[in-house]
Amino acid sequence: MDAVIHPQAPDRRWINRAVKAEINLCFTCGSCAVECPVNRATNRLDPRRLVWMANLGLMDELIRLPDIWLCLGCRKCSHVCPMTVKPAALIAFLRWEALREGLFSPELAEERRRLQDHLHRQRAAVVRELLAETAQRRAPQELSQPRTPGASWKPFAVFHDHETGISSCFACGECSNACPVCVDRSVLDPLVLVRGTLLGYARELSLSPGPWVCLQCRSCSSACSHRVQGHLVALALREAAQKTGMVDDAFLQAWKDKERDLWHGYAEAVVQRLEPGLNLTTNTQQTVTTRP
Ligand code: SF4
Ligand code: SF4
Ligand code: SF4
Ligand code: SF4
Repeated sequence: MDAVIHPQAPDRRWINRAVKAEINLCFTCGSCAVECPVNRATNRLDPRRLVWMANLGLMDELIRLPDIWLCLGCRKCSHVCPMTVKPAALIAFLRWEALREGLFSPELAEERRRLQDHLHRQRAAVVRELLAETAQRRAPQELSQPRTPGASWKPFAVFHDHETGISSCFACGECSNACPVCVDRSVLDPLVLVRGTLLGYARELSLSPGPWVCLQCRSCSSACSHRVQGHLVALALREAAQKTGMVDDAFLQAWKDKERDLWHGYAEAVVQRLEPGLNLTTNTQQTVTTRP
């Protein structure tokens, strides 16, 4: 990007018309940057910066940023914004424009998607591995406290129903469709978390990857027509595992460290694989776009 910024008012107006992301309401508080899981782990995707650039109308620069391809589409940035700005919608629009202008091929976009799915599968595998190690550490204590699977945690569902509304679930699956981490059920499926908790399997679910790989993005809860708060179910399962001592500090520390490495690996892989594919030689003054 040039050192000197040249605001493009027509492009700003065009972005505002093309995507209803309310970017003009942004007051750069930074909540989106703090909550974005990619940015938190890698410091490489700042939704606030993208919104700010869009407000300056820097469209040609924005669609050439590799950053926009790191986004998971989780919409956490949009959910936390106090001004109803939708950075996630802006990023989706920028990607579409990059494809439309031929800067990026659909095949590369598909490859990026596979890298994202791979990240979540790796995250789930790490959780499984660490939970197995934790179970081995805790085995002597567990043996001294025999229990019937599921039964002792049944009140968990009743206790949390007031906050989560899980008893309203009718298994429509919309939460699964909305979840950005639901690449398959062995990784995370909010429907399974909700239904399983209702059936009294909270303990088993707490010791599965789902609650741990959940991004707390709230997309499942927003998608639920019966207002079941799937993200709170995932959070409660995680907290219950901690409170009941099913996971220990060693697990939490190792999980945090390994997660950081995986997110960095994902960001590196996306940028390394996709940057050479980006047609960055296109003259920004001669874009083929038909912007009104
Ligand atoms: S959270 Fe909203 S207002 Fe705050 S920086 Fe992000 S887009 Fe702007
Ligand atoms: S949609 Fe998710 S990954 Fe993308 S910028 Fe927003 S918070 Fe970050
Ligand atoms: S969207 Fe709501 S009602 Fe449908 S399966 Fe998910 S939690 Fe249940
Ligand atoms: S379970 Fe819900 S809060 Fe968790 S990642 Fe999926 S959609 Fe987001």
